[in-house]
Amino acid sequence: MAQRLVLVVNCGSSSIKFALRREGSSAALLSGLAEQLESPKAILHWHTTDGKQSQALSPGGHADAMASLLPLIDEYADQPLSAVGHRVVHGGEHFTGAALINPEVIAAIEANAPLAPLHNPANLIGIRAAQAVLPQIPHVAIFDTAFHQSMPPYAYRYALPDELYAVHGVRRYGFHGTSHQYVTQQAALLRGWPATQGAWLSAHLGNGCSNCAVLDGSSLDTSMGLTPLEGLVMGTRSGDVDPNLHAHLGRTLGWDLPRIERLLNRESGLLGLSGLSNDMRELEQARKDGHDGAKLAIEVFCYRLARSLAGLAVALPRLDGLIFTGGIGENSALTRALTLKHLGILGLQVDPDANSNLPRGEAGNIEAAGSTTILVIPTDEERQIAEESLHLLDASN
Ligand code: ADP
Repeated sequence: MAQRLVLVVNCGSSSIKFALRREGSSAALLSGLAEQLESPKAILHWHTTDGKQSQALSPGGHADAMASLLPLIDEYADQPLSAVGHRVVHGGEHFTGAALINPEVIAAIEANAPLAPLHNPANLIGIRAAQAVLPQIPHVAIFDTAFHQSMPPYAYRYALPDELYAVHGVRRYGFHGTSHQYVTQQAALLRGWPATQGAWLSAHLGNGCSNCAVLDGSSLDTSMGLTPLEGLVMGTRSGDVDPNLHAHLGRTLGWDLPRIERLLNRESGLLGLSGLSNDMRELEQARKDGHDGAKLAIEVFCYRLARSLAGLAVALPRLDGLIFTGGIGENSALTRALTLKHLGILGLQVDPDANSNLPRGEAGNIEAAGSTTILVIPTDEERQIAEESLHLLDASN
């Protein structure tokens, strides 16, 4: 029998990202994006082995967009779908793994909405729209936070009064769990070990960035916290700042909380430091052209990344390897080289040729002789969501 098919759905407030994945395969049969939903510019883009295509959508929103996927799925699926896997951002403490979607699961995702007010409601819109057009298929929720539920309390608690945790859920949750889990499994497989073996540090560097310490398949600590703002310097997010910054800006500039939230989430990070761009490619070019802001932004990004990795290393009993992934981690040899300059303390030494010559899109080792392993591994969150959805169905049958 042909390997099973899963539709992977990642729904935002005005977009739906989707992919039709075959079990065990590293390539999507069909992938695309419906965007600018609920506007006259609503459009569907998709990509297959036949190339890229687009089609205007009615301004009817997520339900219409989801319905317009059905003929495409029919065209490229050679068997009925076995599952629809939905990415959901925040599972709080309720979800420690994938969940078969039913009314109780939907209620729990709703209950976690205060922790992810922009994302969870949008994810629910996607779940409802997909269930409406594919009612006979099992729908599975995969949470960005679930992988990190294995963190011990000393890693996930803030030094705040207990009531804020016990009553209001204020703790570190972590995100990017699907990616950290996927790349650490791939790292183990590349070593010839079972997928859940090894002591790894993983750096997921995209527009959002986070690090994770993983031991034998379990997250022990990660750099993001209650929200994805904590930790590393990111495209437009500041990462860690002095928590008193809020009070300081309020007192000295009269800024209110929405203004400060915008500053820290949208105007900071690489963009704020460089005064130029949140895009690492652009910054690398500007740095070459002598732009001081771009140079500083990249230096701060790499130093703070290295400092976080060195801090997370204490969560592990030993280090079997460091993994770079995400758009920056996979493609920016400069970022990897500048970060690794600070990490000799962990026994990590980069081979400059291997680092610069790694073929785009491929996994490979970039450590020098005698160094602890350093890997670049392309992440594939959609594949992980598809595989986890099928594992859950197999386990519940
Ligand atoms: P997202 O978090 O939105 O999925 P990505 O993982 O695609 O983001 O990462 C986007 C980042 O990757 C951008 O900063 C982009 O500039 C960077 N990037 C992509 N390709 C390269 C490259 N060849 N060199 C340096 N940076 C790159």
